[in-house]
Amino acid sequence: MKRPEWSYLEPKAIILVGPPGSGKGTQAARVSPVLGIPTVSTGEMLRRECQSGSALGHAVKAILASGQLVSDDLMNQVVASRLRESDCRNGFILDGYPRTVAQARFLENLLVELNVPGRVVFHFDISNKDVVSRLTRRLQCAKCGRIFSMSATAGDREMLCDRDGSTLVHRPDDDANCIPERLRLYEKNANPLLRFYRQRGCHRIRANRSPEEVAREILAVVSSESTTPRVVFSRPRAKAAGQPSYSV
Ligand code: AMP
Repeated sequence: MKRPEWSYLEPKAIILVGPPGSGKGTQAARVSPVLGIPTVSTGEMLRRECQSGSALGHAVKAILASGQLVSDDLMNQVVASRLRESDCRNGFILDGYPRTVAQARFLENLLVELNVPGRVVFHFDISNKDVVSRLTRRLQCAKCGRIFSMSATAGDREMLCDRDGSTLVHRPDDDANCIPERLRLYEKNANPLLRFYRQRGCHRIRANRSPEEVAREILAVVSSESTTPRVVFSRPRAKAAGQPSYSV
């Protein structure tokens, strides 16, 4: 991945916090190629495990379908294992993680262990009304995961991904019956999580704007913070966790 010159100054963790449907995945997909760092989307990773039929997939399938959260311990193991991979050494964009203060604390230690000093946190702020409207129209490519919005004129026509021609699907947890519970859970966890990050520096993004405008603001903030390390190295180095295990 080609990276802009200013991003060579330090590896960076870009953390996207916001309710489902606030545009985190869309922005991660836009910003990742510009910054030359990968996106780590915990939702995508878990959905792939479900599709693959792995033990982890079997264990989390019902949780995902109901909109509940996977346990912190399991999520932390999955993320730690992914962030130790070589493509993450220059930084990464976290979409959907951390979602709880316990996960955020784990991540702080992990960033120290991985020697990733720069941390930029974005809070995607959007009303519940806008979230419901977006989620009920959201479609996703079954193959590449790209996100689309169902147009009012689409009717029952099958829609296809304009990148690979695969079928677009409506995620089961985007069902209107599931959305209120997902929003309730988000609000319950987001308040303490945002308090945690506001104490350490957090940028509020008005997420109900065009994807172009939001991406421009994210990139402007990241470039302006490219020389400002945010993670404080005052804690004792985190003990290296054992080999990641996906057993549940
Ligand atoms: P998302 O695609 O981010 O909306 O995530 C889809 C589902 O994956 C969530 O509703 C949770 O069941 C699970 N999930 C994703 N990330 C996390 C996380 N950080 N902690 C717990 N569960 C998660």
